[in-house]
Amino acid sequence: MQTKYVFVTGGVTSSLGKGIICASLGRLLENRGLRVTIQKFDPYINVDPGTMNPYEHGEVYVTDDGAETDLDLGHYERFLGVPTSQANNVTTGRVYLEVINKERNGAYLGKTVQVVPHIIDEIKHWMLKLGETEDYDVIITEIGGTVGDIEGQPYLEAIRQLRYELGPRNTLNIHLTLVPYLEAAGELKSKPTQHSVKTLLSFGLQPDILVCRMDRPLPDDVKRKLALFCNVEQRAVIAALDAESIYEVPLLMKEQGLDTIAVERLRMVEDFGARLLDAPDMDGWVRFLRQLKEPEGTVRIALVGKYILHQDAYKSICESFILAGAANGVEVQLDQILSDDITPENVESLLGDVSGILVAPGFGERGIAGKVEAIRFARENNVPFFGICLGMQCAVIEFARNVCGWKTAHSTEFDAETSHPVIDLMVEQKAISEKGGTMRLGSYTCKIQEGSKASEIYGRKTVKERHRHRYELNNVLRYKLAESGMLFTGVNPKRDLVEIVELPDLRFFIGVQFHPEYKSTVGNPHPLFNAFVKACIAHATDTNSLEKPKGPSQKKKRHLASAKM
Ligand code: GLN
Repeated sequence: MQTKYVFVTGGVTSSLGKGIICASLGRLLENRGLRVTIQKFDPYINVDPGTMNPYEHGEVYVTDDGAETDLDLGHYERFLGVPTSQANNVTTGRVYLEVINKERNGAYLGKTVQVVPHIIDEIKHWMLKLGETEDYDVIITEIGGTVGDIEGQPYLEAIRQLRYELGPRNTLNIHLTLVPYLEAAGELKSKPTQHSVKTLLSFGLQPDILVCRMDRPLPDDVKRKLALFCNVEQRAVIAALDAESIYEVPLLMKEQGLDTIAVERLRMVEDFGARLLDAPDMDGWVRFLRQLKEPEGTVRIALVGKYILHQDAYKSICESFILAGAANGVEVQLDQILSDDITPENVESLLGDVSGILVAPGFGERGIAGKVEAIRFARENNVPFFGICLGMQCAVIEFARNVCGWKTAHSTEFDAETSHPVIDLMVEQKAISEKGGTMRLGSYTCKIQEGSKASEIYGRKTVKERHRHRYELNNVLRYKLAESGMLFTGVNPKRDLVEIVELPDLRFFIGVQFHPEYKSTVGNPHPLFNAFVKACIAHATDTNSLEKPKGPSQKKKRHLASAKM
């Protein structure tokens, strides 16, 4: 069966929310019974975002197969509920790396290797790759950046060639642009979109659908103008109004028939059957949205991390809270607190009135002391605590120092000479560390100890969770920690590595070496986030701090005394 390819480009400016439009269309088509996946092509030279600073690029999203990818893949998974993989995120760096490796291995038989055809062919190969698995009916491809960017040109040429080769019934171009409102003129302006479409046309690409971001409803005359001058059907000029929540966008797109136009233009009824005539069933989504928008109360949770200045650095954690909050009938208000600022003197005033504390993942020493202090506060005051990756490692350090009495206990990531290296590289990792590449990445099995809190939360004996870290809890000291009361309730069965730690006497004190935030989806928040939010609600109820709802949107509060990298 012929796979259908939808290409989504952006114009005028970046940050218009292409990823959300792709994810929304994907979900609508999925709810019509199609098998859909979304892939992102990023025109930068980095081979993957793994080494990029979270300040510059936002969160690195990790897939089951251990790919370090763009955070848009997180939106795709959360909206579609289907896992992605390395093949879903390709960068210019990766494309060139493949071509150069082939050239070094003689694959081009001595020919001159050029952008046209070799780079373009490599891009086309990746664009078609997931389609060739026959696992999907529709592949949505998002092109990063904005039309007209120098580095984006090879991608537009690849799309042009694929449209030519696969034909109009199998390919569709969606162009997302900005239609700004000019106060002085008192109207929405179509000109930037016209220019953007002209640029697209100069690469041989005519958009089929225009999705226009705007801050107010689109009057008919502007719609007519956009359609006429951009050569697009009038009903295919879609208004993407600013929404309160990204989770409203699928419904806004459905209202305007984005999926219907895609189904028609791609001749899906002929190719996939009459069932494609039926509108997608979005009842479940509407229910979720109602829960999200009509919370019964607000619970305040602190997110302690060092990258809080970038709004997307903890994207999946923030979204996991939105999803788990909705499932529990509350709005989670996240107070993002810069870990560098926390000291024994101010911890009470910074964290004294939150109902839960999450200590975030991270790399490098900055902010560690503050994280340890936040955890001590949570443990001593029985405030629900959830530590993720570095957050779990800090919980072990805190316990070693303040409960076991090993005052200088540390992770060897931060103190190579510590007397008690409770977090350390594994012996086999030490051997390969000289060669770089020692990160434990992707999905690993975790065996859950019966009778533990983790077992109660998951309701399963084994789970698979995603990883992105180098250091591990040191098995040499593990039994000593256990003697003092720390439980190790999740373990990697193959390598006997600790995955989950718990303090059983507290209401909720769990640290996990893996990243549960990557596996929350709409309608299916991760069980650990779900349970943590429940515990925070219980704590808020006990302390009379469950607040009445403040409003539909999630408000974030940030404490920033200093702002360093
Ligand atoms: N820096 C820690 C390690 O490498 C934790 C990493 C993380 O939080 N993702 O093990």
